Amino acid sequence: MSTEPSAGASAPLSRIVVVGSLNADLTIYCDRLPQPGETVHGDGFAVNPGGKSANQAVAASKLGGQVSLVGAIGDDPNGAMLLESTARAGVDVSRVRRAADAATGVAIISVDAAGENSIIISAGANGSLSPADVKAAGEVFDDAAVVCLCLEVGLDTVAAAAQAGHDAGATVLLNLSPYAEVPQALARLSDVLLVNAHEASLFLGEEAMPGADVDAAEWEPVRKQFAGRGLQRVLVTLGAHGSVVLDSQAAGTQQITRIPPTKVAAVDTTGAGDAFTGAVAARLAAGESLAEAAAFASVAAALAATRKGTQAAYADTAEVQRLRG
Ligand code: ADP
Repeated sequence: MSTEPSAGASAPLSRIVVVGSLNADLTIYCDRLPQPGETVHGDGFAVNPGGKSANQAVAASKLGGQVSLVGAIGDDPNGAMLLESTARAGVDVSRVRRAADAATGVAIISVDAAGENSIIISAGANGSLSPADVKAAGEVFDDAAVVCLCLEVGLDTVAAAAQAGHDAGATVLLNLSPYAEVPQALARLSDVLLVNAHEASLFLGEEAMPGADVDAAEWEPVRKQFAGRGLQRVLVTLGAHGSVVLDSQAAGTQQITRIPPTKVAAVDTTGAGDAFTGAVAARLAAGESLAEAAAFASVAAALAATRKGTQAAYADTAEVQRLRG
């Protein structure tokens, strides 16, 4: 197991443990996404490493995080590609289990000319990741600053990882994606909840979030609703409109911070949310506040949207710093 920080780190950081999914992304590009029952012509096909957790691990590692990934792959070429890609980015993959009886997870992705996507996932080996894998990962949680979770693996596994992170005193960062109802106990174990606007609406049972261009103050009712559900620190991402930080632990006017978008020419927004999540994990592990981490992540995610694909599209610290000026 590597204990060296990856290239780009300016100082040794505490560990980030990412528990979750690895998928092979099968992507086809087209002018517009097909309607149900419709066939459209695509242009270009690519098989790339993906899966929300693998992406988040790679994003955090490229930004200087010391990252360990806990996951499961099949004994097949897609699994080998994923191991190689995550390890090349500096991620410790010694706790990625090779399942003998399941294929590596797959995501079928269509991307249109505007960079919008639609995705179907087959969990494969990700579905076999269990609380026993979390237990087997054992001491990796001991020096964790951040435990980073999403919902592409079973909720019992996510809950076990959140508990392990909580017991170790780490910041538990839960990306509520793809959306599922989570038990209240899991939500309460999450120190930071990261959702897009759609997931935020579903979680709160609200029809819509405040519009993109409204005053920060209009997010106050949303902050209160999250706080009422036990979620004190929430990041809501708003695609090309940036993000908003709802921090009920902060003082007064600092409870709501609107992070403006970084203006870029988006080519492919697949995995921009994962770039954002990985960047937040890296910067929280480096000791930044939630608002500082979100501002940095906004630039990292925008850069990811300017290039096709996911992991290969992610920026390193130097590139983010250059764009921040
Ligand atoms: P998800 O992909 O999980 O739905 P979003 O679409 O909200 O998440 O994107 C996550 C973050 O990525 C945004 O908060 C923003 O910082 C960045 N981002 C996404 N799309 C763009 C874009 N077109 N231009 C600039 N930044 C973007």
